Amino acid sequence: MSLQQDLLAEIRRLPVIDVHSHLPHERPQAQSPAEVLLYHVFATELMGAGMPRETMQRLQGTPGADDFAEWIEYWRRCRTTTLGRVTWQAVRDLWGAAAEPSVEALQDLWRRAGETAAQPAQATAVFDRCRLVTTAAARSTKPPAPSDARVGWQLERAFWGVDPARSLVEASAKPVTADDFEEQCATWLGSQVEQGANSLATSPPGGDWNDAGPTSLRLALNHLGDAHNLSAPAREALHCAQARALLRCSHETRVPVCFALGVEVVEGWATLAVADDRFFLRWLLLALKEFPRARVLLLESNWSAGQSVCLAARQCPNLYVGGHWWQSLYDTSTLEQMRHRLAAVPMTKVVGFFSDAYAAEWVYARLLLCEEPLAQALAERIMAGRLQEDTAVEIARRWLHDNAAELLAK
Ligand SMILES: [Zn+2]
Repeated sequence: MSLQQDLLAEIRRLPVIDVHSHLPHERPQAQSPAEVLLYHVFATELMGAGMPRETMQRLQGTPGADDFAEWIEYWRRCRTTTLGRVTWQAVRDLWGAAAEPSVEALQDLWRRAGETAAQPAQATAVFDRCRLVTTAAARSTKPPAPSDARVGWQLERAFWGVDPARSLVEASAKPVTADDFEEQCATWLGSQVEQGANSLATSPPGGDWNDAGPTSLRLALNHLGDAHNLSAPAREALHCAQARALLRCSHETRVPVCFALGVEVVEGWATLAVADDRFFLRWLLLALKEFPRARVLLLESNWSAGQSVCLAARQCPNLYVGGHWWQSLYDTSTLEQMRHRLAAVPMTKVVGFFSDAYAAEWVYARLLLCEEPLAQALAERIMAGRLQEDTAVEIARRWLHDNAAELLAK
């Protein structure tokens, strides 16, 4: 066995923590293979390969094997990309599908999956196969008790932009000052942590991240009902106040904040841009001086900004750098970033994996996309004489499990 395969085998024995997913608590397993074959990032690729939007909508609405016959043609155009390859590999590994998609293979796949889809044991089996210790599933309110105890709760998107600010302000009997707003945010976030949110996740919008101060914030708070007409400084002040509230909450409770960077949704989820996070990062580095006990995990999707994120995590004790997603969900960009993180970031500061999965089966697909480049990047450093093999396994254990465990433990 080659060194890389040897390392991959070692890595595949390590426990894994998933710091961000969207698994439904009541039913983490997929209802049908469509949920894997049309994972949203791959869906955009299929449409890029020519699948008409109406076809995609039909497949998302009626996931029967026969409907998917048309999917084969577009998958074939993507079959050599990272996502095309891993999508089919996942259904092969998990449900025993044929080597290549065909009409018969899809019917067989649907039949096999149909036997497991309604079974909670399916999620448990997939989690076991992934050596999953826990997954932090993002929800904006406390979810019902999970069918598998490994599915935890991450507070997501409940605290961003005009709408949540408006509901906080409307709940107040008197006009809300900037100070009141700060206090209301703190109370609300504190109550979510008390209810069991193990982390706070959000995606900062693009912008200059110039904090224009209390006057602009007061303007924003007075005009929340007419959000479209908020001036740029007022909107910026609102963003800064909300981000500061997240950092304050983390500072006081030690619950980590996960900022998802690098994706700007332009139109629905089908048209995306790579967002520029430089201004937010600058704001964050300065703001963290006020909150020395806050802990922040940066999930970076813009691989051209990967350098800045690494540098920030390298220098700032509060900052951790997280796994790969969306615009960097390719073996090349993941490998490139892993190489750089191994060289630049202390081994205690990297959280190497998160799935962003909407069904348990995608946790497995996503893990393939993490383990393989990790084995490759570590093997390269050993071959170059920069790393011992046992230290390489220690790094992998830290990246896949230990660092995330320390972050989520408060
Ligand atoms: Zn997500």
